[in-house]
Amino acid sequence: MFDWLVVGAGFAGSVIAERLASQRGESVLVVDRRNHVGGNAYDRYDDAGLLIHQYGPHIFHTNSEQIVDYLSQFTEWRPYEHRVLASVDGQLLPIPINRTTINKLYGLNLTTEEEVEAFLAERGERIEEIRTSADVVLSRVGRDLYEKFFRGYTRKQWGLDPSELDKQVTARVPTRANEDDRYFTDSFQAMPAGGFTRMFERMLSHPNIKVMLQTDFRDIRDVIPHRRVVFTGPVDEYFDFRFGKLPYRSLQFEHVTLEEEWHQPVAVVNYPQDRDYTRITEYKHLTGQQHPKTSITYEYPSDIGDPYYPVPREENQELYRQYKHLADATPNVHFIGRLATYRYYNMDQVVGQALAEFRRIQESIPVGAEV
Ligand code: FAD
Repeated sequence: MFDWLVVGAGFAGSVIAERLASQRGESVLVVDRRNHVGGNAYDRYDDAGLLIHQYGPHIFHTNSEQIVDYLSQFTEWRPYEHRVLASVDGQLLPIPINRTTINKLYGLNLTTEEEVEAFLAERGERIEEIRTSADVVLSRVGRDLYEKFFRGYTRKQWGLDPSELDKQVTARVPTRANEDDRYFTDSFQAMPAGGFTRMFERMLSHPNIKVMLQTDFRDIRDVIPHRRVVFTGPVDEYFDFRFGKLPYRSLQFEHVTLEEEWHQPVAVVNYPQDRDYTRITEYKHLTGQQHPKTSITYEYPSDIGDPYYPVPREENQELYRQYKHLADATPNVHFIGRLATYRYYNMDQVVGQALAEFRRIQESIPVGAEV
């Protein structure tokens, strides 16, 4: 009899399993249907010996000291600030759009933030009520930058025009009047020194934790005795899609090793205007690994495949609320993580969510309590 059955060995499942095992001394079985731990943050060495991210580039960034302290028990860090360039009109330009982007694109020499703001204000369209992603970008930067940097990328990424997407989607892509070309501005930005998978292995290597891979919850839920469940898989699947399927956008990854030392100047180059893929990632920039060859990944958005991004439309949130209602009313099952709460979360946010759920468990369930 396990005290806890944790479904999913990603950030949500691994963090809560570690806390339950180490702080409460309870027995935990972690199952994952994939053949590895780490969830979408899983990284591995490819045939050439280069460390790559199986499910696309994962960069750790946070403003929470508490989350850094927690994870630092299981890894050392390699400082890394993420930079992204967009291939536009034959040039590689910083994204988020900043002063350098505008100067290079239009052959200008704007030198102050005021000049950039005035440039953008002149072009920004007046829109009465900001409702969609297109509204957000058009009002901020105007039609030309919208067409060049956002429209094509968004259509590839979501299979929808920005005018059909909630405003929150592009709210995540700020525009800067200065020359700051970092993709994130969080106070802590780093990569686990030995990789993400190593960090997960250390987190889960507690004597009270048993991990079973290639094991689906549905196949063992009635077979392996357990008292309580933490479920980090898709919430609609847990309830047998009773109200219908929650829509997700998926991705196909093409991993390639090249016979050259470097392929591109930064870790990620976006392709908003042409190509079928949205971006190319080159991992050596992230990992600091030295190697005569280099491994890259082409990323193709798709409707088919693993669930990655919840599609941000109001009707989907409405459907999720029906499932949340059921989840809240299900005793002895805790739903956490991006799939169980149908929301795009960064890794640090999922760690925060798991730690918060653990605190609630501590306050409400005595150690070893029967159900
Ligand atoms: P997951 O990592 O998805 O883990 C859930 C696990 O549950 C999976 O391994 C799955 O196999 C398992 N599972 C599901 N159902 C079952 C079942 N029935 N039985 C058994 N196992 C099951 N965040 C950042 O902070 N920085 C980034 O740069 C970043 N880049 C990203 C890039 C991409 C392309 C994507 C898609 C996401 C990115 N993220 C990034 C977000 C990050 O991946 C998530 O925050 C994090 O992985 C969520 O962890 P999780 O445990 O909630 O889910």
